[in-house]
Amino acid sequence: MNNSPVAAHRPPAMDRLLENAAMRALQATHGRQSVLGAARAALETWRTSGLPFDLTAFEAAVDSSLQAQAQAALRPVFNLTGTVLHTNLGRAVMAPEAIEAVMSVMQGFSNLEFDLGRGARGDRDDHIEGLLREYTGAEAATAVNNNAAAVMLVLSALAEKKEVPVSRGELVEIGGAFRIPDIMRRAGCKLVEVGTTNRTHLHDFEEAFGPKTGMVMKVHTSNYQVQGFTAAAPPAELAALCHRHGIPFSEDLGAGTLVNLSRWGLPHEPTPAESVANGVDVVTFSGDKLLGGPQAGLIVGRKDLIARIKKCPLKRSLRLDKMTIAALEATLRLYRDPDRLAQRLPALRLLTRSQAELTEQAQRLLPAVQAAFGDRALVRAVECRSQIGSGSLPVDRLDSAGLAVASASGAKRSGAFPEKVARALRELPIPVIGRIEDGEVRLDLRCLDGAEMEQRFLQQLVRLKMPR
Ligand SMILES: *Cc1c(COP(=O)(O)O)cnc(C)c1O
Repeated sequence: MNNSPVAAHRPPAMDRLLENAAMRALQATHGRQSVLGAARAALETWRTSGLPFDLTAFEAAVDSSLQAQAQAALRPVFNLTGTVLHTNLGRAVMAPEAIEAVMSVMQGFSNLEFDLGRGARGDRDDHIEGLLREYTGAEAATAVNNNAAAVMLVLSALAEKKEVPVSRGELVEIGGAFRIPDIMRRAGCKLVEVGTTNRTHLHDFEEAFGPKTGMVMKVHTSNYQVQGFTAAAPPAELAALCHRHGIPFSEDLGAGTLVNLSRWGLPHEPTPAESVANGVDVVTFSGDKLLGGPQAGLIVGRKDLIARIKKCPLKRSLRLDKMTIAALEATLRLYRDPDRLAQRLPALRLLTRSQAELTEQAQRLLPAVQAAFGDRALVRAVECRSQIGSGSLPVDRLDSAGLAVASASGAKRSGAFPEKVARALRELPIPVIGRIEDGEVRLDLRCLDGAEMEQRFLQQLVRLKMPR
């Protein structure tokens, strides 16, 4: 090292810098290339700072920039928004059975498209088709990347260049630019609007039928409700009408749970089995909404129509990968035992947690959360109303409980306070996502489920940094 007093304020050469113990340790973790890049950036920052060179500060800068780089972009968070199936937070949490199935197909080869019985080429849909037929009563089934893709595929395969009558009350927009008129256009179909916003009758459809009619589509109004003076064509009668005219009848259910949710005291949501029983020819629904599985779009229905759908070139572009099929099959298998479904399927377990249980949890967590905020905030246990989410059961709320973090001064709307709290919670090692309401941050505990998850939540609270 150069001992002159002036040079002590300048950095040693890069080679020398990288040789010291701290930098060698970083290279062992992150690799030489990354350390070199971070060191160059830190030197550049020092050069523009005009300050004397400080080796400790330099090493800390390199370390923290390497740590930031090593942090995965997609990572776990605590969903305390109260919305169980939150599209922005990854929708359904997988069951352990699904996770295990994904791991096992990832680790090696599998019979993804291989028929072990015949020793010949198989079909990837075979792994899920039987279960879907069993639960829905449909003749055949297939699956694609998500429900938006399923709707697009059904339209394109069965009604390209043809007219598709849809009730004006069902021209839905789902978040993220899924709009029925746009999907129709993209699929190459001509939307024919039928009836009025609040009332559509059977004869409205019949009057819309003509030589160019390719299919009739019914869409579940999953994120809104038409109330008051309303009428819809009864699905069974509409199905019969379509069949008399030789027109396929499809229904997009959106969430599409496979079981009757009222069994667990939840609001009833239409099931694919009900649609099939009504005579609907093709039903589409999501894999990661109420079904509680991976992102997928499931299509069940008449054998001849499913065969046409599977032959459509779009099917190949939208097909599922082996990890999704593994998770989907394992999730579907859980439905074999509906009596234990609410314990084994995380989505259903979260939806069925009682307010009494959640209130008890809020009381249990209150002291630790209050301690983490110290005198910066006032934390109290509150009742709240959870949402099912993902456009499922839009109007219904579930009685829930959680914690409210309010300004310690007691002022309801003290400027940026809730934003500061929300940010501090997001900056925790496992970010905590709550909801801002009435000038305070609400943490709905419905999705903080199980002793282990609760421990992880509590352990990181010591890292909470509330700015003054
Ligand atoms: C959610 C939803 C979709 C889109 O499903 P994804 O699985 O998110 O692609 C389509 N139609 C309806 C009625 C929906 O509720």
